[in-house]
Amino acid sequence: MKSPLPLRLFSVLLLLPLLAVPSSHAWGNKGHTMINRLAAESLPADMPAFIRTPEAINEIAYLGPEPDRWRSRAEPELNAAQAPDHFIDIEYADLIGTLPRQRYQYIAALYAYIAAHPDRAADLRPERVGFQPYITSEVWERLKSAMRDYRTLSAAHQDTKPVEAAILFYAGWLGHYVGDGSQPLHVTINYNGWVEKENPNGYTTDRTIHSQFESTFVDANINTTDVQPLLTPLHPISDEWDDYLAYLRHTGSLAERVYQLDKQHGFDGTGTPESRQFTAERLAAGASMLRDLYVAAWVKSAEPVPEWHDPHENSAPKTSGAAELPPGVTFQKQAVVGPPPIANTFVESQKPFDAQIFRKPFPDGFEHPILRYAPDPEYSKKARKNKITGKVVVRMTVETNGSVEDVHVVSSDSKDLVDGALNAVRKYKFSPAMYQGHPVAAEINVEVNFQLN
Ligand SMILES: [Zn+2]
Repeated sequence: MKSPLPLRLFSVLLLLPLLAVPSSHAWGNKGHTMINRLAAESLPADMPAFIRTPEAINEIAYLGPEPDRWRSRAEPELNAAQAPDHFIDIEYADLIGTLPRQRYQYIAALYAYIAAHPDRAADLRPERVGFQPYITSEVWERLKSAMRDYRTLSAAHQDTKPVEAAILFYAGWLGHYVGDGSQPLHVTINYNGWVEKENPNGYTTDRTIHSQFESTFVDANINTTDVQPLLTPLHPISDEWDDYLAYLRHTGSLAERVYQLDKQHGFDGTGTPESRQFTAERLAAGASMLRDLYVAAWVKSAEPVPEWHDPHENSAPKTSGAAELPPGVTFQKQAVVGPPPIANTFVESQKPFDAQIFRKPFPDGFEHPILRYAPDPEYSKKARKNKITGKVVVRMTVETNGSVEDVHVVSSDSKDLVDGALNAVRKYKFSPAMYQGHPVAAEINVEVNFQLN
């Protein structure tokens, strides 16, 4: 029998034009390339020279659109896995409260919210809400890690060429997400047409505004020479997570402005002076933040790696924050564990107990969880500056494996202490509560004290 190969080849050729449908995801090629190039070109002279060569700058610029190249239908699994990294629907993400710093804590918090609000299940799935700050933080940490290795190899007079290649790749990759983070439509549920029920100003609901603004309009009207003068001066990053979230929130606050400009035909043809200025400023904000994050990765790559704590040992926490405190000031933290003050009714049940959370009043024979590992809470920049002290009471569920879930603030003496306390208690490890010889999940309160003395 004759091979059907020619026929197959023919059908493949027919399919190709379908697969090659151009996709635009944030700023398009031009905007992303521009952001990466401007950030790399504006690096200060105390950064390593290899990052500042014309070849390095070209490489970083080339990589600006790289994650969008991973969104081709030719690689459907890759596309599905990383498409949510490009955006965050901040209005939905904020429903879970303070965003945890780690991706899987965030996923767990969204699913916990869904469990309590099943009617929101469709909107609140993590891949619908997006992972923008998480991928940015993760790639930034890759960059910092590679820079730390570069320092080690340089100091040992070993070949740094391989790690230099890694650094350029991470730097270019990072630039994509930081660039996405300057595009207001990447930080809102109204990402491509107004979707909120309330639309009193009659903003467009057409699903074209996203690419019209970031690709068509930028391609036709905005050039490096418009953007470069708008870069802000170098600004040191004090906390990469907090500062990046603040940057994203600022970007998100401009989402409605995009719709206003669109309504004034700001993104049609050559647009308006306001729309051109706005767009150039957004691209410049992306490049400025990216440059600042490059510098922060370099500076922080020199910091010593924190000591390892055995999570199974009852660790006496080190005062990791002490070094950054004003001279003569030490920082003490203590955690006091106790039952929650609320009196929920305990319901006697048959084994297994895992599926049930024990709450006060605890039954006879119930043994409280024992705190085994308690890393220091971070002391926020603001709290440190203003020497704020006090306590934060946090309610949590200690699972049968000793990990912490469902963290909520019960009370706090200062809102500037809350994030540090929450992030710390999420890392706590316990020996679980026991009942009739079985580990059980228990709801408890933990008091985190911030004292200066
Ligand atoms: Zn993107």
